[in-house]
Amino acid sequence: MTIPIKPSDRLFVLTGAGISAESGLPTFRASDGLWAGHRVEDICTPEALKRDPWLVWDFYSRRRADNANAQPNPAHVALAELEAQLPGRYFLCTQNVDDLHERAGSRNLIHMHGELAKARCELECGRPPIDDRIVYANLDEVGRCSCGGRLRPHIVFFGEVPLEMPRIEREIAESTLMIVIGTSGNVYPAAGFVHWARQSGAQTVYVGPEPPLNASAFTRIVEGKAGEVLPGLFEVQS
Ligand code: NAD
Repeated sequence: MTIPIKPSDRLFVLTGAGISAESGLPTFRASDGLWAGHRVEDICTPEALKRDPWLVWDFYSRRRADNANAQPNPAHVALAELEAQLPGRYFLCTQNVDDLHERAGSRNLIHMHGELAKARCELECGRPPIDDRIVYANLDEVGRCSCGGRLRPHIVFFGEVPLEMPRIEREIAESTLMIVIGTSGNVYPAAGFVHWARQSGAQTVYVGPEPPLNASAFTRIVEGKAGEVLPGLFEVQS
């Protein structure tokens, strides 16, 4: 079974935690959504950062260490190869904060929920995020912005607005085919992208081991693990 990509097609690809599962990075669901006795939803918030900044930095420092030890899997590689075959007609939006897409060779992508490998000023002073892959051992090690504010992870916490939404909306409106991979369909606004795509007439395909919560909005569901299903799934027509 293959998915044909016509010369007139423009792709919008959305990935979630499931695409990195075969690289050994657990999805929220696989880890029961818990860390050190806390619900992840209680750690990844602006309130938690104010109340207990080390709890938040410790969580993301460990995610950085896990990320550094993980390798891209065949699903990340298949998407990078697809991008190379579709210059100017391929756009990748990931909900993931790991950098496995980049390390597999993807170039035209955005991280709508931020990046583990960056930090920015917690005072939102307007300076851009900086590269920061340090696995901190305590809060005293965490650096400061030149304005004096402490750095925070460059992560979109629960309750914060995802990054680059105008560009995402534009890319979806222009696409004819949306491929969604490894996301449970319960985190908004990403879970709504498939509806926007359908409204503008695009075909919509989901790839994952089980149907997502928003399964009824897809024109096609390909059941299986991303690393096993994606290589060879697409047939780029000339
Ligand atoms: P989720 O944990 O809610 O759901 C994961 C989905 O992946 C499930 O639908 C599951 O069926 C699917 N899945 C599991 N194994 C798979 C595989 N081998 N191939 C394809 N699909 C597979 O994750 P979510 O919907 O992405 O939402 C949770 C939020 O937390 C998102 O922002 C997410 O990116 C973030 N998160 C990121 C990472 C990461 O950066 N690696 C890890 C955990 C959570």
